[in-house]
Order: sequence, then structure tokens, then C-alpha cells
Amino acid sequence: MEDTIFLEKKKVLTNRTIFVKVKGKLFTDVSIFHNYFEEDRIEKACKEGCPNYGKKWSCPPFSKSFLSLEKDYTSACMICFSTQMEYYADIKNKYLAVKAANVTLKSLVEKCARAVETYTDGYSLLSGSCRLCKSCQCKINLPCKHPEKMRYSMEATALNVQKLCDDFLNHHLLWYTDKVLPEYASAVALVLFNQHLEIDQLSDILNDIFSE
Ligand code: SF4
Repeated sequence: MEDTIFLEKKKVLTNRTIFVKVKGKLFTDVSIFHNYFEEDRIEKACKEGCPNYGKKWSCPPFSKSFLSLEKDYTSACMICFSTQMEYYADIKNKYLAVKAANVTLKSLVEKCARAVETYTDGYSLLSGSCRLCKSCQCKINLPCKHPEKMRYSMEATALNVQKLCDDFLNHHLLWYTDKVLPEYASAVALVLFNQHLEIDQLSDILNDIFSE
């Protein structure tokens, strides 16, 4: 059975048109992800390097671990969207250019993951921290406003997303470091579920997202 998908999709945005490389893979045994669960290392990296640590309900130390989330599911679908930074060449500030590309990709991959989640009655892990509220209630010590809609990122559940992309999607994640523009930007999501999902069904969901 075919379990991977590689596509290139055109997306017309309000201020530019971009092409998005779409890579997806289906898994029929989620225990394979145990090899990519790195709780101590990722918690330390978040604590030492991320301004969101302890300030968002979707981020460590409040996020749930992958092991506690996956135990209710048997199968999964990993999706990665990437786009060349050349489509953002008009934005001269390199940091803002990467940010603009990331905002678009995170939003697209979230739409796709939530559509797969609905289709399979599953549970998605998204790209980046929760953005449902302008400012997370965590910062003012109040409970999460949308606990049923809020989703963790793959990283926040302690998955090594870089290694997962290298190993299963033949896609190497690049980062904006030392003011050097990466060749492309990427966003990744994972959906856990119990139903059977065919690659053609994933393809239909992707087509719907890019035709909106
Ligand atoms: S839904 Fe709002 S309060 Fe809850 S994690 Fe997301 S941003 Fe924070």
C-alpha cells in the first residue's frame, strides 16, 4: 500500500503567489515515534532557548508528552509544507521574510492537520505554539480559553521533528540563524487517529486546502 505523497501546490495569497512542496506519510504503528521522543533534551532546549517557556498553555512545562497522547491511537499522518524563500525576496529584512513565510506555512499545515483530524476523528499536533488567542491566558494566570480546540506542537510533546523529517520525508529542516536566510521555510504537523486512512483520501484533503 502506498503510504507517502509528494506534491507541489500553487497558493495565491493576498500579496504574493507561492509554490508549496507538500510531503506526507501515513503510519500504521505509532510506536515507531517512541524512537523520536526526547523529553529531557527538548524540555532543556525549550527552557533555555524559548521565550514561550512557561508562558503558554500549549508549551512546556504545561504541554502533555507525546507518550501520554499517543496511547489512545494506533495510526498517524505526518505532513510537511515548505516553500522557497525566493517568493519573499521583496521583504528586505531577512528575519521578517522568514517570519512571513512561516506564518503562511503554519496556517496552511494547521488547516490541513485539522481537516485530517476531523476526517479521522483524531488528534493533531501542530507547528509552533497555540495562536488561538492574541495573548495566551497563561500569561495572566487564567485557564486556557479554548481547551477543546487548543493543540500542542509536535516539539512541545518532545518529538524530535528534525529527525522525523530527515528519516521519513527526506526533508531537512532549515533555520534562520546568524542573520542568514535559509533556502526554504517549512512547517510540520502530525495527526494521530484510529481509522484507516488511504493516501488518496489525504490527497483529496490537500487539494481542498489549496483550492480555497
Ligand atoms: S487557546 Fe488561548 S489560552 Fe489556550 S493555549 Fe491557546 S492561546 Fe493559550
